[in-house]
Amino acid sequence: MAEKPKVAMYWCASCGGCEESVVDLAEDILFVVENVDIIFWPVAMDFKRSDVEKFADGEILVSMINGAIRSSEQYEMAQLLRKKSKIMIAYGACSHMGGIPSLANEFRKELIQNYVYSEAPTVSNPDETRPQPILKENGREVELPVLWETVRALDQVVDVDYYIPGCPPTPKILKNALVTLLSGNLPPKGTVLSPDVALCDECPRKDTKPTDLQFKEFKRPHLVEIDPELCFLAQGLICMGPATRSGCEALCIGGNMPCSGCFGPTSRVRDHGAKFLSSIASSVDAKTEPEIDEILNGIPDPVGTFYRYGLAKSTLHRRLNL
Ligand code: SF4
Ligand code: SF4
Repeated sequence: MAEKPKVAMYWCASCGGCEESVVDLAEDILFVVENVDIIFWPVAMDFKRSDVEKFADGEILVSMINGAIRSSEQYEMAQLLRKKSKIMIAYGACSHMGGIPSLANEFRKELIQNYVYSEAPTVSNPDETRPQPILKENGREVELPVLWETVRALDQVVDVDYYIPGCPPTPKILKNALVTLLSGNLPPKGTVLSPDVALCDECPRKDTKPTDLQFKEFKRPHLVEIDPELCFLAQGLICMGPATRSGCEALCIGGNMPCSGCFGPTSRVRDHGAKFLSSIASSVDAKTEPEIDEILNGIPDPVGTFYRYGLAKSTLHRRLNL
């Protein structure tokens, strides 16, 4: 029997949701098991780095990496899998664009570590212990990964062939991507494996989207009762649908929550957040500066709103005054 193509899956700065999305394939997981040989998936199977090191360069057909890159170990694993794989896929928003972990680029690493290891209300750390790259204890030495100052998307550290978007990708997007890859009929390098049109195109509320938007205030989803039929923008709620790639089957919209942009921009948009922000800003219905300020105060966290998934890949990338 012919050998099945080898597939590796790995997680970096990730919440685990992308790993779960593979399990969400439900019975379609049988399609995966029938057609490929999973040779590395540390979250589910007991493989080691040394198992990957034994493969010849390019012997693995596809490596799918989820999570952003923010430590020396993640960088080394991304490099190793790149070397051993024909096709490298950035799987999920964190790998594709930096994702939620890249919001850490708003802060210095030291500030984050101070909070996590000292200031958080649930932490007791009287000795102010911090992680060290080398730990020596009882005559033994352990080397730990070094946390980077800046969080990066996968293609900011290794060459990436394709992107599977989403936070996490839907089972349909994953299955379609696998079918495409196994067919051998590969799309151009750099393709995001999801339709290249805005989410509004597949949104069940698109007929209620105002043609002439005028915001007198911005509302927050948890503070208002949301009409389940009407376009969110018509209700004064930020919905990233006009600037975001479709393919998610409008799942959040179906759950009566606005799109927060996890599929990233279409290919015609260079900076996802800036594109959406500029369209919103031109629709603020105010004449004076205080009026404008008051309306914009309805968006208390602009970076977290417009760059929730893509700060690492944005023009801003990170705060510069380190
Ligand atoms: S893309 Fe979303 S689900 Fe996947 S690791 Fe990042 S935060 Fe988790
Ligand atoms: S803005 Fe949001 S709710 Fe309105 S049509 Fe687009 S995706 Fe749907």
